[in-house]
Amino acid sequence: MTLSEGRQFFIGLFIIVFELPFFVVLTFFSVMWEKTDRLFKGKPRTGILFQIVDRINEATERHLEKYVVYKQDYYIINSILFLIIYVMLIFLASAWYTSKYGFSIYVFVLYHTLRLGPELAIFGTVQSLAHKECHSGTEQFQNLPKLVIWILGNIFCWFIGPFYGLLPYSMKIGHSMNHHKYSNSERDVICNSDMERDSIINYIRYITRFLFYSTNISLIPVFLHDKNYKQVFQLVIGIIYQALFFFVFAQKVSFIFALSFIGYAFLENVFYISLYNWTWHAFIDPDEPTNEYVNSITIIDGTYNVIDRDLHVVHHAYPGVHWSKYRKIFETDREIYTKRKGTLFKQTQAKELFFLIIFKRYDKMVEKFIFPENMSYEEKVTFLQKRLRSITWGRKQNIFLSENKKSS
Ligand SMILES: [Zn+2]
Repeated sequence: MTLSEGRQFFIGLFIIVFELPFFVVLTFFSVMWEKTDRLFKGKPRTGILFQIVDRINEATERHLEKYVVYKQDYYIINSILFLIIYVMLIFLASAWYTSKYGFSIYVFVLYHTLRLGPELAIFGTVQSLAHKECHSGTEQFQNLPKLVIWILGNIFCWFIGPFYGLLPYSMKIGHSMNHHKYSNSERDVICNSDMERDSIINYIRYITRFLFYSTNISLIPVFLHDKNYKQVFQLVIGIIYQALFFFVFAQKVSFIFALSFIGYAFLENVFYISLYNWTWHAFIDPDEPTNEYVNSITIIDGTYNVIDRDLHVVHHAYPGVHWSKYRKIFETDREIYTKRKGTLFKQTQAKELFFLIIFKRYDKMVEKFIFPENMSYEEKVTFLQKRLRSITWGRKQNIFLSENKKSS
């Protein structure tokens, strides 16, 4: 381990040590909230709060669908209206309480539990809509004044995202223009293709890489190199904006408030989203490293498949395409997935796969992977190991791309 790898590891470890205990406690309260909501009966997410959301969406569907390009997206308008009021309210109430009575761990737990929602439902909605916004932005809306469309298409970037640790432009530029463009190759600043993915040590190092991406910092040299000065300017504005958000509340309320209410959410985002990105791009085809059917995972009959994000290959191949078309694209290309020996799992979810991967649980992975041909157990394990340990660049590079196969 070189010095810089050692530093990466210790910064990542610091984030985990700081973040994980709080994350576990808050997730516990969030899950208990969901269970209480349905009085510990029935299926998850069928309680009274979820029913109210469904009723509101049903009642407004016909009115709102004319304002969105894809009518399935009508609920986004409800979500935005709810989120902007709800998040501001709980944040300002916490700020008021803290400035009047001082820091309270109970208010800290209450605020973050309310922010995450029952069984992390609000957190998940924010992440998924911020992601959608970074790819489609104002193009999701129609038949409204230009200013309203601009606000709706930028609301997560500027107004809701910062409460969830998302700096302005980290998604619009970082995710959309860097991660998607370079697709886990060397110039993708959140790539994991220079290290074995079946390693918890490497994942901890990766958290540091994700930290620098989430602060917009590691994106700046890439866009400077490409002479994309507009994006460099926007990334810097994003940093200043979030820093001002932090320092204004550090000044007006207290430093501990800014750290525990704004800073905590930032590290939560780094920790949680790095976990997903690690999993979605954990596999590399050793025979053809640019094989996109292998480089992203696909989960069939997933146990937690929100807006078909389990079809991650489709999302990378067609990032601007509406999610409602993913399934058809996948079905049409299904034979190519088999032919190109795609990374296909069944009846699982990304979070579960993450733990199986970093803890080298090949026995469990073998059960969930859809293998291309008849193979013995040992062959299956070797097949998966090769994909998780193929490294395309850096000190540990073990597979070499021919010039015409290089992705960038
Ligand atoms: Zn994307």
